Amino acid sequence: MKKTVIDGVQRYPTNGLKVLVIGAGTSGMQTALECWRKGCEVEIIEKADELSPIGDYFTITPSAQTTLKDYPSMYVQYHNRVYDCILSVFAPGGDCIGYEVVEWNRSNDGHASPDVKISFLNRRPEYAQMQLDQLKRLAIPVHFSQKASSMSEVDNRVIVETETGKKFSGDICIAADGLGTVFRRREEPIRSDVMDSGYSIARCAFPTSHIKPDTPAWKLVETVKEQPEFRIYLADDLHLILYLTADYVGIALTHPDDTGADESWSNLRDPAVLIKVLEKSAATWDPAVVSFMKQVPVKVVDWKLKWRDVNPSWTSASGRILAVGDAAHSFLPTSGNGVTQAIEDALSIGECLRLGGRENAAWATKVHNKLRFERTSVLQLMGFVNRDEIHKADLSAIKKAGKSLDVGFFRLGRWTWNHNPEKYATDNFDACLAHLRDEKPFQNTNLPPGHVYKPWTLQEENERMAKGIQSDLKQNGDWSV
Ligand SMILES: Cc1cc2nc3c(=O)[nH]c(=O)nc-3n(C[C@H](O)[C@H](O)[C@H](O)COP(=O)(O)OP(=O)(O)OC[C@H]3O[C@@H](n4cnc5c(N)ncnc54)[C@H](O)[C@@H]3O)c2cc1C
Repeated sequence: MKKTVIDGVQRYPTNGLKVLVIGAGTSGMQTALECWRKGCEVEIIEKADELSPIGDYFTITPSAQTTLKDYPSMYVQYHNRVYDCILSVFAPGGDCIGYEVVEWNRSNDGHASPDVKISFLNRRPEYAQMQLDQLKRLAIPVHFSQKASSMSEVDNRVIVETETGKKFSGDICIAADGLGTVFRRREEPIRSDVMDSGYSIARCAFPTSHIKPDTPAWKLVETVKEQPEFRIYLADDLHLILYLTADYVGIALTHPDDTGADESWSNLRDPAVLIKVLEKSAATWDPAVVSFMKQVPVKVVDWKLKWRDVNPSWTSASGRILAVGDAAHSFLPTSGNGVTQAIEDALSIGECLRLGGRENAAWATKVHNKLRFERTSVLQLMGFVNRDEIHKADLSAIKKAGKSLDVGFFRLGRWTWNHNPEKYATDNFDACLAHLRDEKPFQNTNLPPGHVYKPWTLQEENERMAKGIQSDLKQNGDWSV
């Protein structure tokens, strides 16, 4: 059968599968697009009344953009705003430790999405709007104001009930509803497994025009027209990221959590909280940074960095329900990979469902799970290792050495961004299915070459860090550029 073309998107022949997606976040919307493109009928249910305007910037690396070219209108919309950033590291007092270009631009061998101009920074609300616009052009329904409250499986169908009493059904249900997912509560009702990581991240974004030319902060933004910058200040047990672009600037301040027993996951706080956090740290801060903080015109979202231990099982026993994105794997921002892995999931499950078709749909989710788990688990662990590395970095030694910045998320490794998750699913689906169904041998190759996968827990990581032991994660396999 021939592909049909809508809005320039070539859609595979319909496969008779109905996929319900819970959550219109980055992963839910991309999952819906990919499943639709692969021939499924798709609907999204989302608890919010509309897309949230909250959010500043996130990083999407080349491995998550391998199918952008398959959506020609979205491809154009994406390229309307590309921030090809320079990365820089500063000491709190304002001493520049070094500048660097992003890893994939340092490599002579290219990356997984050569046809895409990779934007190191993406404005979250704009990216989400771009995905929603594409869903609309493809007439994929998004039901807002529908909070999923339960899921049940009846005769090979999944029924999702929402708080308004509405029922939706599909052959497959994909829970893309973030860390507090209905899926995990259903699978493990007794385990309350969302934990505090001990840190919060205070974030906001606002138009660059709010920074006044006659203030010390001006020196931070006066050059951004020519060259946007991802600037990180490293202090003891704290780091501050400034996203400096010509139209919007953003702040992400990761700090030890001071909200104690407060159970809410995110608090809208007065911008003065930023100054308070800086004052609490032992460092003396560059007056330009303090002036920058004093000019923040918006409330700051202080997200508690919650954590759920790595769980290898992302599907229900039958395989008809699957979790993707944050619902399957929580990431610390220091992994630089939360959004990338959420989108990689979408690219992988779309292809697995195409290959599995109606007959093997419930196996397809399990194949996806097997193909993706070890990769995401290593990257989740990398978030802790990166945070530890940057919080303990010897800045004067780095400056003295004068070589490329090699700490934290400045070093992800070629294996992370030179991966094509859709192609990986195509190439490995049959062997992985034979492994799951017939116990044939299978080994993932989407890890650092030579890496030997080791399961790990948050408790072990906390103990390692408390003892001051350096992780050997980046010595396990090839993490080079
Ligand atoms: C409003 C918002 C702003 C963010 N801003 C940033 C940022 O600036 N920088 C950054 O790095 N990361 C940000 N994040 C986190 C980042 O987007 C995610 O970590 C990553 O993209 C993975 O996305 P996800 O789709 O798996 O989860 P999420 O982005 O958390 O999306 C989950 C979606 O599911 C919906 N949902 C939850 N429960 C239900 C339910 N029961 N029924 C129906 N729908 C439900 C939520 O409303 C949300 O739309 C933000 C997340 C949100 C929700």
